[in-house]
Formats: sequence, structure tokens, C-alpha cells
Amino acid sequence: MKHFYIIFVMSLFFVFFCISIFNQSTKISDSYKLPNFKTENITDLFPKNIDEINNLTKLALEEAQNSLKFIYDIKDQEYNFKNIMLLFDRTTANFSYKFSTLYVLTMVHPDQEMREAAQKSVMELQKFSIDQFSQNQKLYQILKNYNESRVASSEKIADFEEYFIKETLDSYKKAGLEKDDQTRELIKSITQELGVLALDFDKNINSDNRFIKVSKEELKGVDDEFVESLKKDQDFYILGVDYPTVFKIFEECEIESTRKALWYEFNLRGYPANKEVLNKIIVLRDRLAKFLGFDSYAHMDIADQMAKTPTNVINFLNDISDKCKLKVSQEIEALKKDLPISIDLVENKFKPWDFKFVVNYYNKKYMMLDENLISQYFPTDYTLKALLDIYEQFFGLKFERSNVQNLWSEDVQVLKVYKDNKFIGTLLLDLWPRDNKYPHACQVGIVSSVRDKNYDIISPAVVLVIANFTKPQKDKPALLRRKEVTTFFHECGHAIHSLLGSTELANQSGTSVKGDFVEMPSQMLEEWMTDKEVLKSISKHYITGEKLPDNIIESIQKNQNALIASHLLGQVAYSLISLNLFDKGESKNIDLIWREAHDLLSEVTYGCSDYGYCSFGHLTNYGSKYYGYLWSKIYAKDLFNKIKEHGLFNREIGELYAQKILAKGGSQDPNELLKDFLSRETSSEAFFKDCGL
Ligand SMILES: [Zn+2]
Repeated sequence: MKHFYIIFVMSLFFVFFCISIFNQSTKISDSYKLPNFKTENITDLFPKNIDEINNLTKLALEEAQNSLKFIYDIKDQEYNFKNIMLLFDRTTANFSYKFSTLYVLTMVHPDQEMREAAQKSVMELQKFSIDQFSQNQKLYQILKNYNESRVASSEKIADFEEYFIKETLDSYKKAGLEKDDQTRELIKSITQELGVLALDFDKNINSDNRFIKVSKEELKGVDDEFVESLKKDQDFYILGVDYPTVFKIFEECEIESTRKALWYEFNLRGYPANKEVLNKIIVLRDRLAKFLGFDSYAHMDIADQMAKTPTNVINFLNDISDKCKLKVSQEIEALKKDLPISIDLVENKFKPWDFKFVVNYYNKKYMMLDENLISQYFPTDYTLKALLDIYEQFFGLKFERSNVQNLWSEDVQVLKVYKDNKFIGTLLLDLWPRDNKYPHACQVGIVSSVRDKNYDIISPAVVLVIANFTKPQKDKPALLRRKEVTTFFHECGHAIHSLLGSTELANQSGTSVKGDFVEMPSQMLEEWMTDKEVLKSISKHYITGEKLPDNIIESIQKNQNALIASHLLGQVAYSLISLNLFDKGESKNIDLIWREAHDLLSEVTYGCSDYGYCSFGHLTNYGSKYYGYLWSKIYAKDLFNKIKEHGLFNREIGELYAQKILAKGGSQDPNELLKDFLSRETSSEAFFKDCGL
């Protein structure tokens, strides 16, 4: 459930082939303009052929060069916030949305040539961005000089503007702009290489379309509708590694060899290419951190986060895993009391491909939680609309379906979004799996929402939610499984943050917050899925029209924490992997780090996959900060408890939350935002209490 944003702190040593496109007639006022896409013409944002991709790339480069030239030409005596910092903000924002647009095409476009052309452009823009923005010494010097003259002249600026200057200069310092020329060249070169490797790593996962073929008998236990929806090769059924297929087989297929074969393939995504890519990333990140004066890449990555140091993160993770230890044994023992006939244990532990099958069996038999049955109450069209209705009520929003066509796939749904009857942005939903599509779920803020001083939107947000939900099957509409609904709540949480996080500076908009805070709004909205009134309002049986019955809702609530310790330990394990891979030292035994972290789960399953790290996509984008999910979860639970006291449909508390947290984006320290909303310091009490730990 990744959230994507562009990080400008990248660098390169790259002689950009400047095609001398500076046009003297361009006016400086053009450089301050931001994109203003209305829903009706949202297709204009996305290139429709390779020429348009190339034109957009060229435009991004031209505009950025023009704007940078304006910044360079400003005389010292004319330095002020608007001339320097605001122009810098607009310049990066205009570049950034074009980059995001092209990046989106690499993730979702069904046509290979389009994806490849977009990938080429993304690489070109990334190189430019490193060279001309994040590692640009001349630019940094101007920003720094401006700040010194500002302090000397006592220019009056707002707090958020001062925060922006501080954060920007800090990130430049962190990126090595205070180092000597020789060191900076090395840093540039490494960062450039890292940028390319990250794109490779992601591409190797996204484009891995492996599958297995099985006979009808080998699908025993799986319902006919699902089987009939599978692609076939003569008499064999094709099982891909997309999420709906994988989870369906893991949970329901009674034939162990099928579960095992698919589990192996699923965990081989990105292998072998990504093993080598990851090794290179580890070496270069470590080298980069050393040049920048940090003990390790993890230290560098966490230094400007809420957690501040890897030690703080490790203490935090240890605290959680200590509290989980007793509970995890109880959870696993409960499962072992009555095993399905076909299941045998190894050294009294579950084989990893059996675990979900056993949980599903147990939930059905003892918890009244039959996920197939429950999904019948969540027909996609109804549930998505009802879920958006909740957001409408809670946040004062309105989502209006638009008939815009001609995006990259017919699957894409387009929604026009209003707040208090004013248009604020466009939400795009691309929810079903396709070949070569980004395989996970994520939100991409393509165009950042920017407002003026009077709170009027001057650049409406364009937001995309990507997911891979269960498709409609023969004679059945698309039905969402419970965890898919939760995923939708999660990604919409990011989307709402992007839509309501309108700030005066594009660089502070919406989800441009600390990496260990960004998963707070998304995980908080997941909590809505535990509320009776919410479950009633988003459910409607696809045949009978009935709401989810009370007894099932009670089971959901009772069972909410049934496997919480196992789940949290899994999150701790992944957090440790992302920390330890980027701990001090160039040479790492990736396999050992992977296996040692999985030892935390030794009560749960016997062994782990061999090369699962090759498809651990967060390693590029989140770096050492996978712990951010757990870190943000503490705040999510704390805030949720306060909101729940007022009611999950309560417009007033919704507005307060929107104003005090979401609308601030990254314009303030998140600790201050939390304190302001809670009227007290944050506390982990709600988290541990709710988890029963
Ligand atoms: Zn997320």
C-alpha cells in the first residue's frame, strides 16, 4: 500500500545535453503559473502516443531551464521570498507533476511501447532533476544567500514559509551541498546511479508476469465462478501472481501442491535480476551515506524523520515485538487445535504456504467469518459509492462521477471532487488487475493541490488510486473481499490527504509530509472498517440487497485482533529488514538478513521464502523507513479514538481533523499538528490497548 511522491534529494554527475531551448520571449510570470486541470479535460494531462510523451518531456525540461534562469538572474538587492523561494516552489512543482504523469504511465499503461517510452523519459527527467535541482550548487547558493539576506533585512514572512526555507536548506545540506567540489561530484555520480537502479528494481517487479498451470482437480476447494474466470491453456488453468489470484488460492485451494507452487512463484517475483540490483543499491547507499558524513544509510534516511535515529526505531520495534511474544503463541496454539485434514506441521510449525489456508479454515469454522460469503455483501460499485458517501458526510466532500473516456484503460473511473460545493480536484481510480500493471496498491498525487491566501484553490489536485481488486466473475458483479475494502479505505485516506491538503506552497501540499507520518491518515481510515454503522452502510448483498447481518459484524469486531500479534511481528520483521539492509557496511548477506528477521515469525511458520526481498518494492521508495507504517499506526489509533468519541460520521470532528491535520500538509512539524488536534501529547496507549497488548 505504497504512497508515491517524488523525492528531489537525488543527485547525479551527468553532462546534460543542453539543446539551447531557452526562449528569451518567455515571461517570468509564466514560471509562477501552476497547472489547472479540470476534470472535463483531464485526458489532456496524459500523453496518448509516443510523440506526446516526448513533447511532455521536452516541455518539462524547457520550462525548468527557463525558470532556473530567472532565479539565477535575480539581483541580490531584489531577493525576497516571492522572487526566490516561491519561484523555486513553482518551478519544482511544474516539473514534478510532469514527472509524475510519465511515471504513472510506466505503472499502468497497457501498451509496452508506451511504457518503455515513458520509462526513458522518467530516466531523463530524473537525471535532470538531480543535476539541476537537488545537486545544483548554484541554486543552493542562491537559496542560502537569500536566507542570509532575509535574516539581515528582517523580511516578514509567515511561519510556513520559514519552515519551508529551513526544510529546503536542511535537505540540501543533507544531500552534500556543503561538501567540497570533489566530494560533491562523487555524491552526484552515486545518486544518479541509485536513481537508475531504483527504477530498475521497480520495473523488474512490475513486469514479472510469472504463472503456473494447473488442472481443474488441482483447484479443489476454490469456487466455480473463480475457476471459470481464469485464463486457460487447453485443459489447464493459468494462475498468475496477481493479488486476487494468489490470496484466493492460498486461502481456499485444498491441494497443497498448488498452494506451494504458487507461493514459490509469488515469492520469486523480481528474481534473479533484483538480487543483483539490491546488492548494488546497498553498496552505493552505504558509500553515499559515508560521503555525507553519516554512520550508515539508515542513519541518513531517518535523520530528518520523526524517529530521528535508527536506535529510536529499534527500541520502538523491540517494544512492540516484546509485547507480542506471549500473544503470538496463544494465537498459533488456537489455530493448531483443529487443523484441516490435509495439513501437517513441520517441527510443530506451519508451512508458509499453508498458513492462510489454516486461518481461513479456522475463521470459517469458529469465527463465523466466511470471507466468500462476506464478500457477497460488498459489490464493488455499491461499496465504493457508499464508502465515498461516508467521506462526503465526514469531510463535507462531494464526488461526482464523470464520463471522461480515453484514459489508458477503460477500467479507469473518473470522479470530480467538491468541498463545500467548490471544485477541488479529480480522483482517478484504476482498481482491477491487468497484465504488466503495477501489482500492489498505491496512491499517486500527480498534481499537488495549491491554494491562495483566501483559501481558493489555484491548482486543483489530480490524484490516482491504483489497486488490484477481484474482477467481476461470470454471472456475478465484482465483489470486494473484506481486506480489499480495507485497502480501499487506506488508499482513499492518502487520496483525501492529497485532496484536502491544499497549501500555499506546492512543496508542502497534502502527502508531502515526513515518511514516518505519511501512513497516519491512511491507516486511520482503515479503522472505519471495524465500526458497525460503517459496515452496515457500505454493505448490500448483491442478490438479496440485505445489509451485513449483526452476527457477522459482531464476529468481525470480536475477531479484529485474533491474529494481531502475528501481523505486528510480520511488520516488525519487514521494518528490521529495511533497516538492517542499509545498516553500516557495503557488504551485506541479504539472505541472512532476510532469514534472521523472519526468525521473529518462527512461532508462526517454518522457514521463509528464499528470495522474497526481490519483490519487496518498498526498499527503493521507502528505503529504511518501512517502520513508518507502525510508527504512524500509533498516531492513527490515538486520533481514531478521539474521533470515535464524537462519531465516525460527525461532520464537525471531520472538519476539525481536516483543518488541523490534513489541510496543513507538510507546512508544519507533524508533532505540532498532532498536539494541536489532540490538545495533548500523543500516546501509544490507545494502540497497545486496542491491539490487546
Ligand atoms: Zn499507504
